[in-house]
Amino acid sequence: MEDYITSQHRYYTFNYYLQKKYNHKVFKVALNGNFSCPNRDGTISKNGCIFCSPSGSGDFAGNKNDSLETQFKMVKDIIELKWPNSYYIVYFQANTNTYKPLNELKELFEKAINLDPKIKAISIATRPDCLDDEKIEYLSELNKKIPVMIELGLQTSNDKTALLINRGYKTELIKDICFKLNKANIETIIHIINGLPFETKDDMYNTLNFVNSLNIQGIKIHSLFVLKNTELARMYNNHEFDMQSFEDYIEVTSNQIAMLKKDIVVHRISGDPPKELFIAPTWSLKKFVVMNEIDKYMKKHNLYQGSLYN
Ligand code: SF4
Repeated sequence: MEDYITSQHRYYTFNYYLQKKYNHKVFKVALNGNFSCPNRDGTISKNGCIFCSPSGSGDFAGNKNDSLETQFKMVKDIIELKWPNSYYIVYFQANTNTYKPLNELKELFEKAINLDPKIKAISIATRPDCLDDEKIEYLSELNKKIPVMIELGLQTSNDKTALLINRGYKTELIKDICFKLNKANIETIIHIINGLPFETKDDMYNTLNFVNSLNIQGIKIHSLFVLKNTELARMYNNHEFDMQSFEDYIEVTSNQIAMLKKDIVVHRISGDPPKELFIAPTWSLKKFVVMNEIDKYMKKHNLYQGSLYN
């Protein structure tokens, strides 16, 4: 049995990974580097992915008008009241965080990693079509100074759904980019969404199998949630699709974890919707209930991460 299996979780949690690697409490601090997204600025499309909030899915990132120093300090000061010995990962989350010229990326990322000696890694969320060879080469150099994690939004391996959600790139592309990132020794985390419109359970299991084939190191599994001012909200209000039920999310996600390769770190298994923009489904606001129910389901069905991997 893998050493990450505990009486509570039957999978390789990000917390376990951090504890083992750093032996400290580690917090991810979401910084806003004032990026845009080619899927929103008209380069690929003007509309963005149908679920994406106006902030570019960076609703918990800092204020783009504040300096990185201010953004980081604001969060650190609060954390250190309770955990004075904590370490940090700076996280560029909002929009597409490699969508700037290389020289600007260099300046920004170098500044970010040097904000504080307790920053031990940098995590960068982006799209596979915004990582050319030059940028990957730079990230590989940066990775020699401090661990770099690249987070890629796959959401689904089904190209028909990808078209429907206006993802703006073909699934095939992510294979190529993951191969290059892997070659460059850069830790890669894939985001998927369960419950996308018209997807069947088999579609979601196919997505998981696709993720297993990518030679990546981490996964984030989100439930679909509807936010105000999105195309998804329009579809939801017009009853154009059925939201996934809580029970189905628990079943599918538990099975996906059991299908997942044993060495892939599970960074998250629920969404974290911003309350002020939130429309539905209500259950997705109860992150800890979702996590507990997944633990219970896995126990009841005797599932462990990797137990259904083939
Ligand atoms: S690629 Fe990311 S930031 Fe851009 S529209 Fe899609 S979810 Fe939003």
